Amino acid sequence: MKPDLFEAPDYFALDSLLSQEHLLVRDAARAWVKRAVSPIIEQHAQAATFPTEIIGGLAEIGAFGPYIPQEYGGAGLDQISYGLIMQEIERGDSGVRSTASVQSSLVMYPIFTYGNEQQRQKYLPKLASGEIMGCFGLTEPDHGSNPSGMTTNIKDMGDHYLLNGAKMWISNAPFADIAVVWAKNEAGRIKGVIVERDMEGFSTPETHHKWSLRASATGELIFSNVKIPKENILPGKDGLGAPLGCLDSARYGIAWGAIGAAMDCYDTALRYAKERIQFGKPIAATQLQQKKLAEMLTEITKAQLLAFRLGQLKNEGKATTAQISMAKRNNVEMAINIAREARQVLGGMGITGEYSIMRHMMNLESVITYEGTHDIHLLITGADITGHPAFSS
Ligand SMILES: Cc1cc2nc3c(=O)[nH]c(=O)nc-3n(C[C@H](O)[C@H](O)[C@H](O)COP(=O)(O)OP(=O)(O)OC[C@H]3O[C@@H](n4cnc5c(N)ncnc54)[C@H](O)[C@@H]3O)c2cc1C
Repeated sequence: MKPDLFEAPDYFALDSLLSQEHLLVRDAARAWVKRAVSPIIEQHAQAATFPTEIIGGLAEIGAFGPYIPQEYGGAGLDQISYGLIMQEIERGDSGVRSTASVQSSLVMYPIFTYGNEQQRQKYLPKLASGEIMGCFGLTEPDHGSNPSGMTTNIKDMGDHYLLNGAKMWISNAPFADIAVVWAKNEAGRIKGVIVERDMEGFSTPETHHKWSLRASATGELIFSNVKIPKENILPGKDGLGAPLGCLDSARYGIAWGAIGAAMDCYDTALRYAKERIQFGKPIAATQLQQKKLAEMLTEITKAQLLAFRLGQLKNEGKATTAQISMAKRNNVEMAINIAREARQVLGGMGITGEYSIMRHMMNLESVITYEGTHDIHLLITGADITGHPAFSS
């Protein structure tokens, strides 16, 4: 792969609105991605392996629990810093960002928010340092966009619960030490359950042959009469709102992360267009390529402003689920469109692993589908503005 010469576009001087802390956190993550992710990521994506060697580095830049308080091992940062870290990691690879998102927003967040003190002390510091890794089990083979129909269940056996069912498309599943799993009790109420790797009857077969997020490990979670100690149930919240609260936090991170992938594609295409000579001049001097590049930068700039304002609202505790949906949907679509355009700017070279663009493009095909599909986020906006939820009967 080519050396990483990335320079971030900041056309509307957004950096001047960031605090010293934001800039420090962002620049540390940016430098780490250049040093630790860029040199190895293409090989891992080609081999479809998750780069376990970067887990320690992810922990060091604060990617595991950026906004979790320091007393639990988190970085104690605000929501804009969290977003900036996700942006920088996804600039390297969406699969690596997925691992960080899952660990922070889908595993640490529910344990911190819905867990009791004992659960927080037991799991959060180890998750923050990367000593243990987690995954989040909501999606099932027959229930994706409609998780409320889930059939995975827990049965009260007096001194413990029995967990049965299956989850699929679970990021980090093949190597996770713990899984935060959502299951219905006898009353049909959705509860959060912490399942540990060595529990009998629990297995995590890997999903192979993906063309997308190849450097992220995906798998199933199979539960066959898994004995769950009562202290492994998250007591703080139940019902569908509990997993949806986690998804709000992860989707917010994706709204920033997608900007990173888009910036990398734009920056790569701009540099290539300036260097590539056809018909005796750089292709950057042609109107058609300038149109592509100018439109890319316009869309990135709009997405940056959207994410920044959402971050301010999130810091104030005012960001709504519908606003987060709009930002995730807009920014991922923006990124996938830019990846497709940037790929064309590079001509034939755009399809090779010498450059990051095709990998970003394929990764974004998952990002546009997971954490709520592109359609579902549109329907969330539709329901919010009309008062009529069109996705349910
Ligand atoms: C690589 C990857 C990693 C993932 N990681 C995780 C994870 O860690 N944990 C986890 O729990 N899940 C994970 N997922 C699952 C992901 O969240 C689901 O794939 C997603 O929610 C969509 O569900 P589905 O694939 O079953 O599609 P479906 O729900 O079957 O949807 C199929 C199509 O129908 C459309 N559709 C559905 N309902 C409606 C409607 N009412 N109106 C109009 N159109 C509709 C959808 O938009 C979509 O285009 C992951 C998925 C992928 C691909």
